Amino acid sequence: MKPDLHIVGAGLTGLTAAIEAAERGWRVTVAEAHSRPGGRARTLPAPYRANLGAHAIYVDGPWWAWLERRGLTPPIVAAPHQAGLVRAGGRLGPWPAELSQAIAALPAEAPAEESFRAWLLRHVDAKTAEAIVGVVFIFTFDHDPGRLSAAFVHQRLRRALAGGARYVTGGWSTLVDLLAERAAGLGARIHTRTRVSALPAGPTILATSLAAARRLTGDASLTWPSARMTTVDVGLRADGGPDWFRVIDVDHRIYAARYSLADPTLAPPGHELIQISAACAPGERKADAERRVRQLLDESWPGWRAAVQWYRSAVRTDCTGAIDLPGTTWHDRPAVGRGGGLTVATDQSAAPGLLAEVGISAAQLALQQLGETPRLAQAHVGV
Ligand SMILES: Cc1cc2nc3c(=O)[nH]c(=O)nc-3n(C[C@H](O)[C@H](O)[C@H](O)COP(=O)(O)OP(=O)(O)OC[C@H]3O[C@@H](n4cnc5c(N)ncnc54)[C@H](O)[C@@H]3O)c2cc1C
Repeated sequence: MKPDLHIVGAGLTGLTAAIEAAERGWRVTVAEAHSRPGGRARTLPAPYRANLGAHAIYVDGPWWAWLERRGLTPPIVAAPHQAGLVRAGGRLGPWPAELSQAIAALPAEAPAEESFRAWLLRHVDAKTAEAIVGVVFIFTFDHDPGRLSAAFVHQRLRRALAGGARYVTGGWSTLVDLLAERAAGLGARIHTRTRVSALPAGPTILATSLAAARRLTGDASLTWPSARMTTVDVGLRADGGPDWFRVIDVDHRIYAARYSLADPTLAPPGHELIQISAACAPGERKADAERRVRQLLDESWPGWRAAVQWYRSAVRTDCTGAIDLPGTTWHDRPAVGRGGGLTVATDQSAAPGLLAEVGISAAQLALQQLGETPRLAQAHVGV
């Protein structure tokens, strides 16, 4: 019998780790500070079922295959066919076909040493390069994705355009509930409202944010760049609204999506839920980012202000996963194995994947490491 495994955090990473560990025969205990599992993948209760974090799940990735093998795939929907709007060069209009053509004509590989902007400028003119940089903000959340590693941004662009992005019906809590139920069914004990303030003795996976792992361990090397942005969620009456599903503001790095059009269960009948991300440069105030968002809505949804029933906004720092600067790749991020039976599995860890997938692959690396050192692990619990 393997020893107990402690998992701190019941977000997507911690729950996935709990399932796989229990399948491998570990006795698993998960400690979660919040009253509900899910972490950043929680969905607010009705009437406006806004996702706190993740929106798109990538069905072309390894995590989806992992879920499929276990019969854990949630119901999903694709983006609806309603037209999108783009603001580029100060003009709001339909998606420019020439932008799709320019993106499709880019080389299949990009180097990690060079910035995305410098690499783009070798293949397209300056105006097109800035438009593409504005678009890739959607998958990087960075205020200037042109400064990031070309390989990093290019991989996200390719995955996003490959057509694998779907939305979880009912919000991501649907998936969280499936994962938590399976983990519990396999015998994992999930203790909510349990904040861990000292490292547990014995084999442990810290499946928290990287910042929380840094605080818990006191290890200052647990740090990696991430993005900063303001999110705005709006619930409103739909009467007389426009018919777009998404608006991309390439100039000001804003992405607004009317998720209730894809999944009507997210808002009451006759109402809509719009969730908006606006990338923030270091130091930009929330009020200024919100002003940009409101201007975009004024232009794209005339009369929206009078229809608003519910509104919330927040500045989000370091919670959209890792971003890699030129000269770095995921291999350079903080290692999962920290020695002595301690592992750190976060979406800013040294693991491959796209957004939430990084935490999942980090959890699998953590289990590999712990599995390879069973004697050390057992020594920690005095077996
Ligand atoms: C606005 C936004 C949009 C996003 N969009 C996407 C997207 O479209 N697609 C995608 O794949 N990803 C997206 N992401 C990223 C995705 O949400 C995260 O990568 C993923 O949810 C991280 O899961 P996790 O389990 O690693 O971490 P978390 O969800 O942060 O879970 C960590 C858990 O640990 C708990 N915890 C922390 N400290 C302690 C402690 N001391 N004791 C006990 N418990 C503790 C926390 O309460 C939390 O529940 C987005 C994120 C944001 C913020």
